[in-house]
Amino acid sequence: MNRIEIIEEYCIGCGICVSSCPFGVIAIEDGIAKILDGCTVCGACVDICPYDAIIKRIDEPAELSTVRLEQYNGVWIVCELEHNKPARVGFELLGVGRTLANARDVALSAVIIGKDIKNLADEYIAYGADKVYIADDDWLADFNEENYTAVLEKLIRSEKPEIVLCGATIWGRSLIPRLAVRIHTGLTADCTHLEIDSDTGLLMQTRPAFGGNIMATIACPNHRPQMSTVRPRVMKPLEPDRNRKGEIIEVDISDIEKPIQRVKILKSIEELGEMLNLADADIIVSGGRGLGGPEAFKMLFELADLLGGAVGASRAAIDSGWIPYAHQVGQTGKTVSPKMYIAIGISGAIQHLVGMQSSETIVAINKDPKAPIFDIATYGLVGDLFDIVPEIIKKMKSR
Ligand code: FAD
Ligand code: SF4
Ligand code: SF4
Repeated sequence: MNRIEIIEEYCIGCGICVSSCPFGVIAIEDGIAKILDGCTVCGACVDICPYDAIIKRIDEPAELSTVRLEQYNGVWIVCELEHNKPARVGFELLGVGRTLANARDVALSAVIIGKDIKNLADEYIAYGADKVYIADDDWLADFNEENYTAVLEKLIRSEKPEIVLCGATIWGRSLIPRLAVRIHTGLTADCTHLEIDSDTGLLMQTRPAFGGNIMATIACPNHRPQMSTVRPRVMKPLEPDRNRKGEIIEVDISDIEKPIQRVKILKSIEELGEMLNLADADIIVSGGRGLGGPEAFKMLFELADLLGGAVGASRAAIDSGWIPYAHQVGQTGKTVSPKMYIAIGISGAIQHLVGMQSSETIVAINKDPKAPIFDIATYGLVGDLFDIVPEIIKKMKSR
C-alpha cells in the first residue's frame, strides 16, 4: 500500500509541514512529526520538509519490484504488415534500431506476426535486422490487438529485450499501449528522436509535448523493456543490403492461450484516400497562408501534376477552409518525408516543420527573407509566389 512516512532521525519537529497538509493530518508529538489517520497520500507535504524527513513510499506490484534490469538485452522492432507486405515504418525503425543496437553492442531483431509470412524474413535482414522472430499461424492472419498482444507478451517475457520499438501508426497505437500495460513497463508514444545516453545506457526518447511548444526527453530507468512508438516518416531506412546474413527464429506459439475473440474481421477495404497519396508521394508541393485564398491552390495542383507529386498545406490554409484537412502537413496533420518538399507561402512554424523537416530536399518560396522556413531549406527563392510559381509552371510546360 502506498503511504507517507516520517524518517524520525531527520525530523527536528520544526512544524513546517503541519500547515502544508490540506487534510490537517500532520501533528507534532514528542517533538517529531506524526502522520495521523486520514492521510490520502496526496504527497503535498513531501517536498515541504527542508530536512527531507518526509517520504512517499510506493509499493509496486511484486512483479515490478523484482525486475532484474541486467537480464534484458537487445533491441526489437515490432514490424507492421499491410496485407502481408512489410509496411515502410518497420524499415525506418530498423534504421534507427541499428544505431541503438550498435551503441549498446547488442543484436537488432525484427518481430513479425501473421500468416504465410516466412518469406519476408530476408527483407528485414537486408534492412538491418540480425534476427527475425516470426509468429506465423492461421489465427494470426488478421491483425487483432488481443491475439497479437498475447504473442508479444509471451515473446518478451521469454526473450527479455531491453528496447522495443513500433510505428506510431493506427496499428502500433492500438497494440503497443496494451502490451506495455500487460508487461508492466512504461511507453513513450509518438517519438521523433531516439538515442542512447552514453553515461547510463538508457534509451532517451524525445517527443513533442505541450502542443509541440517543447520537446520532452523521457527515460524509463526502472522497468524493462524501454518501449516507444515512433512517428512514421521521421526516421530514414538504411539502404538494403541483400548480402546480409541473419538468424530466422520461428516462434513456438502452441502454448499460448488464445484470448476470447471479441472482434471478427468481416471485410478489409483498402483505403485509397488522399492521406495515403500524400504520405507516399516523392514530391510534395505545399501551400500556406501566403496563397491568400483557395483560388491559388489551383496553381499548386497544376505544378504538382507536372512534377508527378501531391499537394500539401499548412494548418493556416486548412483552418481558412481553402483545402481539406487530408492535405495538412505537420504536428496535427501528416508527417511526410518526400524526396522534394516545396513550401510555398509557408512561414515555417515549428508545428509545420516537425511534419516535413526530414524531406530530402526542401525548396522554400517566400517573400520574407527572414521567414524561418529558410533556416531548413536546401534552396530558397525570395520573392512573390504569384510571380515565381507561374514562371516555374511555364518553364516546366515548355520542356
Ligand atoms: P503564416 O505563418 O502566416 O505564413 C505565411 C507566409 O507566407 C509568411 O512567411 C509570408 O511571408 C508568406 N507570404 C505571404 N504572401 C506571400 C507571397 N505573395 N509570396 C510569397 N510569400 C508570401 N501548422 C501546420 O502547418 N501544421 C500543423 O500540423 C500544425 N499543428 C499545430 C498544432 C498546434 C497545437 C498549434 C498551436 C499550431 C499548429 N500549427 C500547425 C500552426 C502553426 O503554428 C502555424 O500557425 C502555421 O503553420 C502557419 O501557417 P503558414 O506558414 O501557412 O502561415
Ligand atoms: Fe519534521 Fe520536516 Fe515536518 Fe519539520 S517539516 S516537523 S523536520 S517532518
Ligand atoms: Fe497530508 Fe497529503 Fe501529507 Fe498525507 S500526504 S500527510 S494528506 S499532505
